[in-house]
Amino acid sequence: LFISFEGIDGAGKSSHIQGLHDAFVAAGRQVVSTREPGGTPLAEKLRALFLQEPMDALTEALLVFAGRRDHLQQVIEPALARGDVVLCDRFTDATFAYQGAGRGFDLQVLSVLEHMVQARPELGQGVLRQPDLTIWFDLPTEVAAERLAGARAPDRFEAEPQQFFARVAAGYAERALAQPERFARIDSHQPKPAVWQAVREAVEAQGW
Ligand code: C5P
Repeated sequence: LFISFEGIDGAGKSSHIQGLHDAFVAAGRQVVSTREPGGTPLAEKLRALFLQEPMDALTEALLVFAGRRDHLQQVIEPALARGDVVLCDRFTDATFAYQGAGRGFDLQVLSVLEHMVQARPELGQGVLRQPDLTIWFDLPTEVAAERLAGARAPDRFEAEPQQFFARVAAGYAERALAQPERFARIDSHQPKPAVWQAVREAVEAQGW
């Protein structure tokens, strides 16, 4: 069981990922909580470069996909093969939303990289590793900006103007529309207990 969590910065993913982790553990499951960019020693080094160094969108995309390859091989695939639950804070939808919609980078190139990195040739041509469920925390950009203000030192993305996050949010909406079977949109503007309830329902709706 592979669940990813998506949304613009400030959408409130983190505490619900922890809550879900605890809920699965309480139900007796082995759980691997991980994140992207990052998730392995190599990919965490790439993440640090990615967050700190100015670079163009192609370089960003190549770095996040290189890290994703390592993350899939070292962590995600072995965990899924063991039957563990994998909870991943951001995955490929973030690349489409941030580098694609946000930076305006060519979506077809991203799709080529996605096919190279997530291919599962043992299951047939064109079959990709994708999350079984993607929980998308959707929140108006101005609310996210308010929540972020003062919360922590911004990395180079969080300092972007609101228009950037509006494009990122639209990028998520587009991915959700294209692959509705795995997306659960959650209105992250509700009070936290209601958001948590919605997260649980999205997971339970899958029969887990
Ligand atoms: O979710 P997290 O805070 O770990 O993400 C780190 C930063 O990297 C965020 O500011 C996020 O907006 C940015 N990011 C990005 N492109 C990605 C994934 C994350 O610009 N593909």
